[in-house]
Amino acid sequence: MNPSPLPSGPLLLRCRMLLAHARAVPLRDAGVLIEHGTVVRVAPFAELADGVPADRTTELDGVVLPAFTDAHSHLRALPLGEQGVADTDLETWVVRLTGTTALDSYDDALAAAVALVTTGVTTVQAIHHTFAGADMYAAGVRAVASALTEAGMRAELAVGITDRAEFLPDPPSAAWPGPAPEPRSLAAPVRGVPPRDLPDLAASLAIPCPGVRVGVAPVAPQWCSDEALDVLRQCAEAGMRLHTHLLESRYQRTWLGGSDGGGDGGSDPVSRLDRHGLLGPGLSAAHGVWLTGPEIALLARRGVTLVHCPVSNLRLGSGDASVRSWLDAGVNVALGMDSQHTAAADMFAEMRAALAAAERAGGPLTPHEVLAMATEGGAVATGHGGRLGRIAPGFRADLICVAAGTTDAEVDADPVERIVCGAAPADVTHVFRSGRPLVAAGEVYGRASADAALARLRAALAADREARTRRLGALAAYEEPLRGLLARTEA
Ligand SMILES: [Zn+2]
Repeated sequence: MNPSPLPSGPLLLRCRMLLAHARAVPLRDAGVLIEHGTVVRVAPFAELADGVPADRTTELDGVVLPAFTDAHSHLRALPLGEQGVADTDLETWVVRLTGTTALDSYDDALAAAVALVTTGVTTVQAIHHTFAGADMYAAGVRAVASALTEAGMRAELAVGITDRAEFLPDPPSAAWPGPAPEPRSLAAPVRGVPPRDLPDLAASLAIPCPGVRVGVAPVAPQWCSDEALDVLRQCAEAGMRLHTHLLESRYQRTWLGGSDGGGDGGSDPVSRLDRHGLLGPGLSAAHGVWLTGPEIALLARRGVTLVHCPVSNLRLGSGDASVRSWLDAGVNVALGMDSQHTAAADMFAEMRAALAAAERAGGPLTPHEVLAMATEGGAVATGHGGRLGRIAPGFRADLICVAAGTTDAEVDADPVERIVCGAAPADVTHVFRSGRPLVAAGEVYGRASADAALARLRAALAADREARTRRLGALAAYEEPLRGLLARTEA
Protein backbone atom coordinates (compact mmCIF):
# COMPACT_ATOMS: atom_id res chain seq x y z
CA MET A 1 0.00 0.00 0.00
CA ASN A 2 1.05 3.53 -0.52
CA PRO A 3 -0.09 5.54 2.47
CA SER A 4 0.25 9.23 2.11
CA PRO A 5 2.41 10.80 4.80
CA LEU A 6 0.74 12.48 7.73
CA PRO A 7 1.38 16.18 7.13
CA SER A 8 3.60 17.53 9.86
CA GLY A 9 3.31 21.26 9.33
CA PRO A 10 0.17 23.34 8.91
CA LEU A 11 -2.08 22.48 5.99
CA LEU A 12 -4.41 25.00 4.41
CA LEU A 13 -7.39 23.88 2.35
CA ARG A 14 -8.89 26.38 -0.08
CA CYS A 15 -12.50 25.34 -0.55
CA ARG A 16 -14.56 26.60 -3.45
CA MET A 17 -17.56 26.00 -1.20
CA LEU A 18 -17.44 24.98 2.45
CA LEU A 19 -20.31 23.30 4.25
CA ALA A 20 -19.07 23.20 7.83
CA HIS A 21 -21.93 20.97 8.99
CA ALA A 22 -25.25 19.71 7.72
CA ARG A 23 -27.20 22.84 8.69
CA ALA A 24 -24.49 25.41 8.07
CA VAL A 25 -24.73 28.29 5.65
CA PRO A 26 -22.38 27.40 2.78
CA LEU A 27 -19.31 29.64 2.53
CA ARG A 28 -17.69 30.47 -0.80
CA ASP A 29 -13.87 30.54 -1.12
CA ALA A 30 -13.33 29.46 2.47
CA GLY A 31 -10.10 28.37 4.10
CA VAL A 32 -9.64 25.52 6.57
CA LEU A 33 -6.38 25.59 8.52
CA ILE A 34 -5.26 22.23 9.90
CA GLU A 35 -2.48 21.50 12.37
CA HIS A 36 -1.59 18.08 13.76
CA GLY A 37 -4.68 16.63 12.12
CA THR A 38 -7.07 19.04 13.83
CA VAL A 39 -8.91 22.02 12.38
CA VAL A 40 -7.61 25.18 14.05
CA ARG A 41 -9.35 27.89 12.01
CA VAL A 42 -12.13 28.29 9.48
CA ALA A 43 -12.27 31.68 7.74
CA PRO A 44 -12.39 33.33 4.32
CA PHE A 45 -9.41 31.96 2.43
CA ALA A 46 -7.87 35.41 1.97
CA GLU A 47 -7.59 35.81 5.76
CA LEU A 48 -5.67 32.56 6.14
CA ALA A 49 -3.47 32.63 3.03
CA ASP A 50 -0.81 34.83 4.62
CA GLY A 51 1.61 32.86 6.68
CA VAL A 52 0.99 29.47 5.07
CA PRO A 53 3.44 28.55 2.30
CA ALA A 54 1.84 27.95 -1.09
CA ASP A 55 3.11 24.36 -1.14
CA ARG A 56 1.10 23.69 2.03
CA THR A 57 -2.11 24.82 0.37
CA THR A 58 -4.49 22.43 -1.39
CA GLU A 59 -7.14 23.75 -3.75
CA LEU A 60 -10.44 21.90 -3.48
CA ASP A 61 -12.67 22.73 -6.42
CA GLY A 62 -16.02 21.56 -5.11
CA VAL A 63 -18.11 21.40 -1.95
CA VAL A 64 -16.07 20.52 1.13
CA LEU A 65 -18.04 18.91 3.94
CA PRO A 66 -17.41 16.66 6.96
CA ALA A 67 -16.50 13.07 6.12
CA PHE A 68 -19.12 10.39 6.73
CA THR A 69 -19.43 7.72 9.40
CA ASP A 70 -20.79 4.32 8.40
CA ALA A 71 -22.21 3.46 11.79
CA HIS A 72 -23.13 -0.16 11.09
CA SER A 73 -20.99 -2.45 8.98
CA HIS A 74 -19.86 -6.04 8.74
CA LEU A 75 -16.87 -5.10 6.56
CA ARG A 76 -17.92 -7.41 3.74
CA ALA A 77 -16.12 -6.41 0.59
CA LEU A 78 -18.05 -8.53 -1.91
CA PRO A 79 -21.80 -8.42 -2.40
CA LEU A 80 -23.35 -11.64 -1.14
CA GLY A 81 -24.86 -12.13 -4.57
CA GLU A 82 -21.38 -13.22 -5.65
CA GLN A 83 -21.71 -16.09 -3.18
CA GLY A 84 -25.07 -17.12 -4.58
CA VAL A 85 -27.04 -15.65 -1.63
CA ALA A 86 -30.11 -13.88 -2.98
CA ASP A 87 -32.11 -11.27 -1.10
CA THR A 88 -34.87 -12.73 1.03
CA ASP A 89 -36.39 -12.15 4.45
CA LEU A 90 -33.86 -11.63 7.23
CA GLU A 91 -34.42 -14.97 8.98
CA THR A 92 -33.93 -17.00 5.79
CA TRP A 93 -30.99 -14.83 4.80
CA VAL A 94 -29.22 -15.47 8.11
CA VAL A 95 -29.60 -19.20 7.55
CA ARG A 96 -28.17 -18.85 4.04
CA LEU A 97 -25.22 -16.87 5.39
CA THR A 98 -24.02 -19.93 7.25
CA GLY A 99 -23.39 -21.68 3.94
CA THR A 100 -21.20 -18.98 2.45
CA THR A 101 -17.46 -19.24 1.91
CA ALA A 102 -15.44 -18.07 4.90
CA LEU A 103 -13.14 -15.37 3.56
CA ASP A 104 -9.82 -14.09 4.81
CA SER A 105 -10.62 -11.47 7.47
CA TYR A 106 -7.75 -9.18 6.55
CA ASP A 107 -8.47 -9.11 2.82
CA ASP A 108 -12.21 -8.75 3.34
CA ALA A 109 -11.82 -5.85 5.78
CA LEU A 110 -9.12 -4.11 3.73
CA ALA A 111 -11.10 -4.15 0.49
CA ALA A 112 -14.29 -3.17 2.33
CA ALA A 113 -12.58 -0.29 4.14
CA VAL A 114 -10.98 1.14 1.01
CA ALA A 115 -14.36 1.00 -0.71
CA LEU A 116 -15.81 2.95 2.23
CA VAL A 117 -13.10 5.58 1.88
CA THR A 118 -13.97 6.08 -1.79
CA THR A 119 -17.53 6.96 -0.82
CA GLY A 120 -16.35 9.53 1.71
CA VAL A 121 -16.40 7.43 4.89
CA THR A 122 -13.48 7.89 7.31
CA THR A 123 -15.05 6.28 10.40
CA VAL A 124 -16.73 2.91 10.49
CA GLN A 125 -18.41 0.95 13.24
CA ALA A 126 -18.27 -2.75 12.54
CA ILE A 127 -19.37 -5.90 14.27
CA HIS A 128 -16.92 -8.75 13.95
CA HIS A 129 -18.51 -12.05 14.78
CA THR A 130 -17.51 -15.62 14.11
CA PHE A 131 -18.05 -18.88 15.92
CA ALA A 132 -14.34 -19.41 16.40
CA GLY A 133 -12.88 -20.07 19.83
CA ALA A 134 -11.11 -17.30 21.73
CA ASP A 135 -7.67 -17.68 20.13
CA MET A 136 -8.94 -17.73 16.58
CA TYR A 137 -11.37 -14.96 17.41
CA ALA A 138 -8.58 -12.75 18.72
CA ALA A 139 -6.51 -13.40 15.61
CA GLY A 140 -9.47 -12.44 13.43
CA VAL A 141 -10.08 -9.20 15.29
CA ARG A 142 -6.39 -8.30 15.05
CA ALA A 143 -6.42 -9.00 11.31
CA VAL A 144 -9.46 -6.77 10.81
CA ALA A 145 -7.97 -4.01 12.95
CA SER A 146 -4.72 -3.99 11.03
CA ALA A 147 -6.61 -3.93 7.72
CA LEU A 148 -8.59 -0.91 8.92
CA THR A 149 -5.38 0.83 9.93
CA GLU A 150 -3.84 0.00 6.57
CA ALA A 151 -6.81 1.58 4.82
CA GLY A 152 -6.44 4.72 6.95
CA MET A 153 -9.86 4.17 8.51
CA ARG A 154 -10.88 5.21 12.01
CA ALA A 155 -12.97 2.43 13.52
CA GLU A 156 -15.04 1.16 16.38
CA LEU A 157 -14.68 -2.60 16.14
CA ALA A 158 -17.29 -4.42 18.21
CA VAL A 159 -16.46 -7.98 19.21
CA GLY A 160 -19.76 -9.77 18.78
CA ILE A 161 -21.01 -12.47 21.09
CA THR A 162 -23.92 -14.86 20.85
CA ASP A 163 -24.67 -17.81 23.09
CA ARG A 164 -28.27 -18.63 22.34
CA ALA A 165 -29.88 -20.11 19.26
CA GLU A 166 -29.00 -17.68 16.52
CA PHE A 167 -31.13 -19.20 13.83
CA LEU A 168 -33.64 -21.38 15.57
CA PRO A 169 -36.47 -20.65 17.94
CA ASP A 170 -35.32 -21.17 21.47
CA PRO A 171 -36.16 -23.65 22.76
CA PRO A 172 -36.59 -25.56 19.51
CA SER A 173 -40.30 -25.76 18.97
CA ALA A 174 -42.22 -28.81 17.96
CA ALA A 175 -42.69 -27.22 14.57
CA TRP A 176 -39.00 -27.51 13.81
CA PRO A 177 -37.79 -30.41 11.64
CA GLY A 178 -36.19 -33.21 13.60
CA PRO A 179 -32.86 -34.25 12.12
CA ALA A 180 -30.12 -31.67 12.31
CA PRO A 181 -29.05 -30.71 8.80
CA GLU A 182 -25.55 -29.71 7.79
CA PRO A 183 -23.74 -27.69 8.85
CA ARG A 184 -24.17 -29.15 12.30
CA SER A 185 -23.55 -25.74 13.86
CA LEU A 186 -27.06 -24.62 13.01
CA ALA A 187 -28.42 -26.85 15.70
CA ALA A 188 -25.63 -26.15 18.18
CA PRO A 189 -26.24 -22.65 19.42
CA VAL A 190 -23.70 -22.62 22.23
CA ARG A 191 -20.40 -22.31 20.45
CA GLY A 192 -17.59 -19.89 19.93
CA VAL A 193 -16.54 -17.78 22.89
CA PRO A 194 -18.45 -18.48 26.12
CA PRO A 195 -19.64 -15.23 27.73
CA ARG A 196 -17.42 -15.64 30.79
CA ASP A 197 -14.35 -15.58 28.52
CA LEU A 198 -15.37 -12.39 26.73
CA PRO A 199 -13.80 -9.85 29.14
CA ASP A 200 -10.40 -11.56 28.91
CA LEU A 201 -10.71 -11.80 25.15
CA ALA A 202 -11.71 -8.16 24.81
CA ALA A 203 -8.95 -7.02 27.16
CA SER A 204 -6.41 -9.01 25.16
CA LEU A 205 -7.37 -6.99 22.12
CA ALA A 206 -5.88 -3.69 23.23
CA ILE A 207 -4.57 -3.33 19.73
CA PRO A 208 -1.66 -1.17 18.68
CA CYS A 209 -3.64 0.03 15.68
CA PRO A 210 -4.03 3.81 15.71
CA GLY A 211 -7.62 4.92 15.42
CA VAL A 212 -9.13 1.46 15.96
CA ARG A 213 -10.96 0.96 19.25
CA VAL A 214 -12.30 -2.40 20.32
CA GLY A 215 -15.76 -2.57 21.83
CA VAL A 216 -18.22 -5.37 22.43
CA ALA A 217 -21.59 -6.35 21.03
CA PRO A 218 -24.47 -8.57 21.88
CA VAL A 219 -24.91 -9.41 18.18
CA ALA A 220 -28.60 -9.14 19.00
CA PRO A 221 -30.39 -9.46 22.35
CA GLN A 222 -32.40 -12.50 21.29
CA TRP A 223 -29.16 -14.36 20.65
CA CYS A 224 -27.70 -13.62 24.08
CA SER A 225 -28.39 -15.26 27.41
CA ASP A 226 -28.81 -13.21 30.58
CA GLU A 227 -25.30 -14.24 31.57
CA ALA A 228 -23.94 -12.87 28.30
CA LEU A 229 -25.75 -9.55 28.74
CA ASP A 230 -24.36 -9.22 32.27
CA VAL A 231 -20.83 -9.89 31.03
CA LEU A 232 -21.29 -7.26 28.33
CA ARG A 233 -22.39 -4.76 30.98
CA GLN A 234 -19.16 -5.47 32.87
CA CYS A 235 -17.23 -4.71 29.68
CA ALA A 236 -19.16 -1.44 29.32
CA GLU A 237 -18.43 -0.55 32.95
CA ALA A 238 -14.76 -1.07 32.15
CA GLY A 239 -15.07 1.62 29.45
CA MET A 240 -15.83 -0.33 26.29
CA ARG A 241 -18.48 0.90 23.88
CA LEU A 242 -21.45 -1.29 22.93
CA HIS A 243 -23.10 -1.96 19.62
CA THR A 244 -25.98 -4.26 18.73
CA HIS A 245 -28.70 -5.18 16.26
CA LEU A 246 -32.11 -4.36 17.71
CA LEU A 247 -35.62 -5.28 16.55
CA GLU A 248 -34.55 -5.58 12.94
CA SER A 249 -37.40 -7.89 11.94
CA ARG A 250 -40.92 -8.21 13.26
CA TYR A 251 -40.17 -11.68 14.63
CA GLN A 252 -37.49 -10.56 17.06
CA ARG A 253 -39.79 -9.09 19.68
CA THR A 254 -40.84 -12.55 20.79
CA TRP A 255 -38.15 -14.34 18.75
CA LEU A 256 -40.34 -16.31 16.43
CA GLY A 257 -43.26 -16.34 18.79
CA GLY A 258 -43.02 -19.77 20.26
CA SER A 259 -40.37 -19.10 22.86
CA ASP A 260 -40.00 -16.97 25.93
CA GLY A 261 -38.49 -14.11 23.96
CA GLY A 262 -35.41 -14.15 26.03
CA GLY A 263 -34.17 -14.71 29.50
CA ASP A 264 -35.42 -13.52 32.82
CA GLY A 265 -38.88 -12.08 32.83
CA GLY A 266 -39.48 -13.24 29.28
CA SER A 267 -39.87 -9.67 28.12
CA ASP A 268 -39.07 -7.76 24.95
CA PRO A 269 -35.51 -6.99 23.84
CA VAL A 270 -35.53 -3.33 24.86
CA SER A 271 -36.71 -4.06 28.40
CA ARG A 272 -34.14 -6.83 28.64
CA LEU A 273 -31.28 -4.56 27.60
CA ASP A 274 -32.50 -1.95 30.08
CA ARG A 275 -32.82 -4.45 32.91
CA HIS A 276 -29.25 -5.55 32.28
CA GLY A 277 -28.03 -1.95 32.37
CA LEU A 278 -27.01 -1.79 28.75
CA LEU A 279 -29.05 1.22 27.62
CA GLY A 280 -26.91 4.34 27.74
CA PRO A 281 -24.90 6.79 25.66
CA GLY A 282 -22.25 4.12 25.13
CA LEU A 283 -24.69 1.95 23.16
CA SER A 284 -25.68 2.29 19.54
CA ALA A 285 -28.27 -0.04 18.08
CA ALA A 286 -28.77 -0.81 14.41
CA HIS A 287 -32.10 -1.12 12.57
CA GLY A 288 -34.77 -0.53 15.25
CA VAL A 289 -37.48 -1.05 12.63
CA TRP A 290 -40.00 -2.52 15.08
CA LEU A 291 -39.52 -0.21 18.06
CA THR A 292 -42.69 1.12 19.70
CA GLY A 293 -43.27 4.74 20.69
CA PRO A 294 -42.62 4.12 24.41
CA GLU A 295 -39.42 2.21 23.55
CA ILE A 296 -38.21 5.06 21.36
CA ALA A 297 -38.89 7.49 24.23
CA LEU A 298 -36.94 5.25 26.62
CA LEU A 299 -33.96 5.07 24.23
CA ALA A 300 -34.02 8.87 23.93
CA ARG A 301 -33.98 9.24 27.73
CA ARG A 302 -31.08 6.81 28.04
CA GLY A 303 -29.06 8.56 25.31
CA VAL A 304 -28.87 5.49 23.05
CA THR A 305 -28.05 6.11 19.38
CA LEU A 306 -30.15 4.40 16.71
CA VAL A 307 -28.41 3.50 13.46
CA HIS A 308 -30.74 3.62 10.48
CA CYS A 309 -29.94 1.05 7.76
CA PRO A 310 -32.49 1.79 5.01
CA VAL A 311 -30.92 -0.19 2.16
CA SER A 312 -30.52 -3.28 4.32
CA ASN A 313 -34.05 -2.94 5.71
CA LEU A 314 -35.41 -2.82 2.18
CA ARG A 315 -33.33 -5.68 0.79
CA LEU A 316 -34.14 -8.04 3.66
CA GLY A 317 -37.79 -7.06 3.82
CA SER A 318 -37.47 -5.85 7.40
CA GLY A 319 -39.70 -2.80 6.88
CA ASP A 320 -39.22 0.97 6.95
CA ALA A 321 -38.11 2.40 10.27
CA SER A 322 -40.04 5.43 11.53
CA VAL A 323 -36.96 7.64 11.68
CA ARG A 324 -39.09 10.78 11.79
CA SER A 325 -40.44 9.66 15.16
CA TRP A 326 -36.92 8.85 16.37
CA LEU A 327 -35.73 12.38 15.61
CA ASP A 328 -38.89 13.95 17.03
CA ALA A 329 -38.36 11.98 20.26
CA GLY A 330 -34.83 13.37 20.52
CA VAL A 331 -32.91 10.21 19.67
CA ASN A 332 -29.47 10.63 18.11
CA VAL A 333 -29.66 8.94 14.70
CA ALA A 334 -26.76 7.69 12.59
CA LEU A 335 -26.66 5.96 9.22
CA GLY A 336 -25.27 2.50 8.46
CA MET A 337 -24.81 0.60 5.21
CA ASP A 338 -24.73 -2.83 6.87
CA SER A 339 -22.44 -4.08 4.07
CA GLN A 340 -25.53 -4.53 1.93
CA HIS A 341 -24.24 -3.02 -1.30
CA THR A 342 -25.10 -4.70 -4.58
CA ALA A 343 -22.14 -3.26 -6.50
CA ALA A 344 -19.97 -0.92 -4.41
CA ALA A 345 -20.50 0.79 -1.07
CA ASP A 346 -22.33 4.07 -1.71
CA MET A 347 -23.11 6.43 1.18
CA PHE A 348 -24.94 8.79 -1.17
CA ALA A 349 -27.29 6.02 -2.26
CA GLU A 350 -27.79 5.17 1.44
CA MET A 351 -28.81 8.77 2.15
CA ARG A 352 -31.26 8.69 -0.76
CA ALA A 353 -32.61 5.39 0.54
CA ALA A 354 -33.18 7.10 3.89
CA LEU A 355 -35.22 9.81 2.18
CA ALA A 356 -37.26 7.23 0.26
CA ALA A 357 -37.85 5.03 3.32
CA ALA A 358 -39.07 8.03 5.30
CA GLU A 359 -41.53 8.90 2.53
CA ARG A 360 -42.86 5.34 2.53
CA ALA A 361 -43.13 5.38 6.32
CA GLY A 362 -45.21 8.58 6.15
CA GLY A 363 -42.70 10.75 8.04
CA PRO A 364 -40.51 12.54 5.53
CA LEU A 365 -36.95 13.62 6.29
CA THR A 366 -35.08 16.53 4.74
CA PRO A 367 -31.74 16.12 2.96
CA HIS A 368 -30.20 18.21 5.76
CA GLU A 369 -31.47 15.79 8.40
CA VAL A 370 -30.13 12.81 6.49
CA LEU A 371 -26.74 14.46 6.00
CA ALA A 372 -26.64 15.19 9.73
CA MET A 373 -27.23 11.49 10.40
CA ALA A 374 -24.30 10.55 8.15
CA THR A 375 -21.96 13.05 9.83
CA GLU A 376 -22.67 14.35 13.35
CA GLY A 377 -25.07 11.53 14.18
CA GLY A 378 -22.43 8.99 13.23
CA ALA A 379 -19.83 10.83 15.29
CA VAL A 380 -21.97 10.51 18.42
CA ALA A 381 -22.75 6.88 17.58
CA THR A 382 -19.05 6.05 17.63
CA GLY A 383 -18.11 8.05 20.71
CA HIS A 384 -16.63 10.96 18.76
CA GLY A 385 -19.32 13.55 19.44
CA GLY A 386 -17.78 17.04 19.52
CA ARG A 387 -14.64 15.83 17.72
CA LEU A 388 -16.00 14.56 14.39
CA GLY A 389 -18.91 15.41 12.10
CA ARG A 390 -18.23 19.12 11.71
CA ILE A 391 -15.52 21.26 10.20
CA ALA A 392 -14.77 23.59 13.07
CA PRO A 393 -11.88 24.51 15.36
CA GLY A 394 -11.08 21.63 17.69
CA PHE A 395 -12.60 18.98 15.43
CA ARG A 396 -10.46 16.35 13.74
CA ALA A 397 -9.82 17.21 10.10
CA ASP A 398 -11.97 14.47 8.59
CA LEU A 399 -13.46 16.03 5.50
CA ILE A 400 -14.26 15.32 1.90
CA CYS A 401 -14.59 17.30 -1.32
CA VAL A 402 -17.45 16.49 -3.65
CA ALA A 403 -17.35 17.81 -7.20
CA ALA A 404 -20.30 20.13 -7.50
CA GLY A 405 -20.62 21.25 -11.06
CA THR A 406 -18.60 23.80 -12.93
CA THR A 407 -20.61 26.99 -12.80
CA ASP A 408 -21.09 29.13 -9.72
CA ALA A 409 -24.84 28.71 -10.11
CA GLU A 410 -24.44 24.93 -9.92
CA VAL A 411 -22.20 25.16 -6.89
CA ASP A 412 -24.49 27.65 -5.18
CA ALA A 413 -27.72 25.72 -5.69
CA ASP A 414 -28.36 24.26 -2.21
CA PRO A 415 -25.25 22.08 -1.96
CA VAL A 416 -26.86 19.78 0.59
CA GLU A 417 -29.70 18.91 -1.71
CA ARG A 418 -27.33 18.51 -4.65
CA ILE A 419 -25.06 16.17 -2.72
CA VAL A 420 -27.68 14.10 -0.92
CA CYS A 421 -30.01 13.81 -3.88
CA GLY A 422 -27.52 13.64 -6.72
CA ALA A 423 -23.93 12.76 -5.82
CA ALA A 424 -22.14 9.42 -6.25
CA PRO A 425 -18.83 8.00 -5.01
CA ALA A 426 -17.23 8.99 -8.34
CA ASP A 427 -17.86 12.64 -7.39
CA VAL A 428 -15.66 12.36 -4.29
CA THR A 429 -12.40 13.97 -5.33
CA HIS A 430 -10.68 14.23 -1.94
CA VAL A 431 -10.93 12.47 1.40
CA PHE A 432 -8.90 13.52 4.45
CA ARG A 433 -8.78 11.68 7.73
CA SER A 434 -7.14 13.73 10.49
CA GLY A 435 -5.66 15.88 7.75
CA ARG A 436 -4.09 12.91 5.99
CA PRO A 437 -5.21 12.52 2.39
CA LEU A 438 -6.74 9.12 1.62
CA VAL A 439 -8.14 10.24 -1.74
CA ALA A 440 -6.57 13.14 -3.61
CA ALA A 441 -7.65 14.45 -7.01
CA GLY A 442 -9.61 11.24 -7.47
CA GLU A 443 -6.63 8.98 -6.71
CA VAL A 444 -7.42 6.46 -3.98
CA TYR A 445 -4.24 5.65 -2.08
CA GLY A 446 -5.39 2.20 -1.05
CA ARG A 447 -6.74 1.17 -4.44
CA ALA A 448 -3.91 -1.19 -5.47
CA SER A 449 -3.94 -3.07 -2.16
CA ALA A 450 -7.72 -3.29 -2.21
CA ASP A 451 -7.75 -4.59 -5.78
CA ALA A 452 -5.19 -7.25 -4.89
CA ALA A 453 -7.27 -8.25 -1.86
CA LEU A 454 -10.41 -8.44 -4.00
CA ALA A 455 -8.66 -10.70 -6.48
CA ARG A 456 -7.66 -13.07 -3.66
CA LEU A 457 -11.20 -13.03 -2.26
CA ARG A 458 -12.69 -13.87 -5.66
CA ALA A 459 -10.17 -16.68 -6.14
CA ALA A 460 -11.26 -18.12 -2.78
CA LEU A 461 -14.89 -17.90 -3.87
CA ALA A 462 -14.12 -19.68 -7.13
CA ALA A 463 -12.20 -22.46 -5.40
CA ASP A 464 -15.11 -23.10 -3.04
CA ARG A 465 -17.87 -22.75 -5.61
CA GLU A 466 -18.96 -26.39 -5.82
CA ALA A 467 -18.81 -27.04 -2.10
CA ARG A 468 -20.65 -23.80 -1.39
CA THR A 469 -23.39 -24.70 -3.84
CA ARG A 470 -23.81 -28.01 -2.01
CA ARG A 471 -23.98 -26.29 1.38
CA LEU A 472 -26.49 -23.72 0.22
CA GLY A 473 -28.52 -26.48 -1.37
CA ALA A 474 -28.59 -28.42 1.90
CA LEU A 475 -29.64 -25.31 3.80
CA ALA A 476 -32.56 -24.82 1.43
CA ALA A 477 -34.22 -27.70 3.28
CA TYR A 478 -34.64 -25.30 6.21
CA GLU A 479 -36.45 -22.67 4.29
CA GLU A 480 -39.92 -24.12 3.92
CA PRO A 481 -40.34 -25.08 7.58
CA LEU A 482 -38.84 -21.74 8.57
CA ARG A 483 -41.38 -19.89 6.42
CA GLY A 484 -44.13 -21.90 8.02
CA LEU A 485 -42.88 -20.96 11.44
CA LEU A 486 -42.64 -17.29 10.48
CA ALA A 487 -46.16 -17.35 9.05
CA ARG A 488 -47.52 -18.81 12.28
CA THR A 489 -45.61 -16.22 14.31
CA GLU A 490 -47.13 -13.45 12.22
CA ALA A 491 -50.61 -14.89 12.61
ZN1 LIG B 1 -25.89 -5.85 10.60
